[in-house]
Amino acid sequence: MTKIYDSHAHLNFEGYEQDREEVIHRAFDAGTQFIINIGSGMGMKGNYDAIAIANAHDNIYATVGLHPHEASLFDEQVLQEIGRLADEPKVIAIGEVGLDYHYLHSPKESQIQAFEAFIELARDKRLPLVIHSRDANKESMSILRKMHAGDVAGVIHSYGGDREQAAEAIELGFYLSINGIITFKNAQSLREAVAELPVDRLLIETDCPFLSPVPYRGKRNEPAYTSYVLRAIAEIKHMDEDTLADILLDNAIKAFGVGVEQTIAYPLDNRLYLNITNRCTNVCVFCPKFKNDYYVKDYPLKLFKTEPSYEEIIRALQRLPGYDDVVFVGFGEPTQRLDMLLAVSKWLKEHGTKTVRLDTDGLGNLVYGRDITKELGGSIDAVSVSLNAPDAKTYIKLCNNKFGEASYEAVKEFIKLSKARFKDVTATMVDLPNSDAAATRAVAEMLGVKFRIRPYYKESLRYKKEKE
Ligand code: SF4
Ligand SMILES: [Zn+2]
Repeated sequence: MTKIYDSHAHLNFEGYEQDREEVIHRAFDAGTQFIINIGSGMGMKGNYDAIAIANAHDNIYATVGLHPHEASLFDEQVLQEIGRLADEPKVIAIGEVGLDYHYLHSPKESQIQAFEAFIELARDKRLPLVIHSRDANKESMSILRKMHAGDVAGVIHSYGGDREQAAEAIELGFYLSINGIITFKNAQSLREAVAELPVDRLLIETDCPFLSPVPYRGKRNEPAYTSYVLRAIAEIKHMDEDTLADILLDNAIKAFGVGVEQTIAYPLDNRLYLNITNRCTNVCVFCPKFKNDYYVKDYPLKLFKTEPSYEEIIRALQRLPGYDDVVFVGFGEPTQRLDMLLAVSKWLKEHGTKTVRLDTDGLGNLVYGRDITKELGGSIDAVSVSLNAPDAKTYIKLCNNKFGEASYEAVKEFIKLSKARFKDVTATMVDLPNSDAAATRAVAEMLGVKFRIRPYYKESLRYKKEKE
């Protein structure tokens, strides 16, 4: 059976009171793999109801938030309560949140305030975002960019055909979700826009009970009807429905982390790599994670929901024994979890690991306001520091962090201190087009450390492997 899913349903809305279970059964009978039920839109009650429905069904998940229409209800207490709900096991995203300047049910200022707070919450909880944006695409996108929403990304729900928004959303790592509107007679411009979008950035949804696709237009919508949305996209893309369905399903799994096992430890070339965080100090222009591409070979490194605990990391290490060389790396800066890094490296040394390596951005001292190489010196043997540029201006352009140009000096200082502390210190740079390897190498040499150029992967590391 063709695999469908509904990335945006409101099964907690009143219209389903009489026959909710039947609607859900029809969806799963029709090949639905999972339903994401949106908690926002009914005040706090909607969030509680969405979680209750998710808890009562295996393949239904919930999101929590406050719809922009309700932004005037937003305050510190609401935010705290939604933060608490976000920790519930079936909650997989924050949303729908955003801006709606069409109806202006809440004043713009409250909408913006709530939206920004929810982006921060999503980043804090490491949950993707479900974005509602109506007649406010420019403002929504600029807030998403400003607040580094790409760190968690998510989906622009009910994508309406704004090409500029699509380009920006994709660049930030977001997916665009298509619903029944695509089947409407008067939606020609949306169909044309979708024809140009890459299929690996699209999701499907109903937004039920609203927006029933043709032939149900005007009637109550339900998750089973995503099959009509799928069919419409397949026609536009001249693709076989099943092939498209597999891609769209894979997109949703990547966007929301449903059904993905987290990779904590992974072996590559005789080394064992540890992925303990996705958080970073930098927002590097070359980083694939901002395209929501968290793969290294076949290992998905996106850490959804929670970062691994000490026990989980140790268990992952025990499952893969016998490596002399263990590296802290991943799509995140390991020193963001300094205490964890220290505890795990101590465990590794006690259990006979010959070389414990740390791949770092070298900004730890700036972040913590103290010399962390002292602390690391006890159990780390080798560090590899991303130098990336021959000067401060180039560095900040590539690596982008809140410390500005001063961070380049901090990285150099970190390298110097590391040299005194660790056996093996390497400065690295990513081999970007137009980068000045010779000048960067000269800086590393001046600092008296080794230099290594890391390949720049324009395409996904996973994709690259598949092609090989
Ligand atoms: S430090 Fe690494 S993981 Fe973080 S943004 Fe830069 S390249 Fe990506
Ligand atoms: Zn909705």
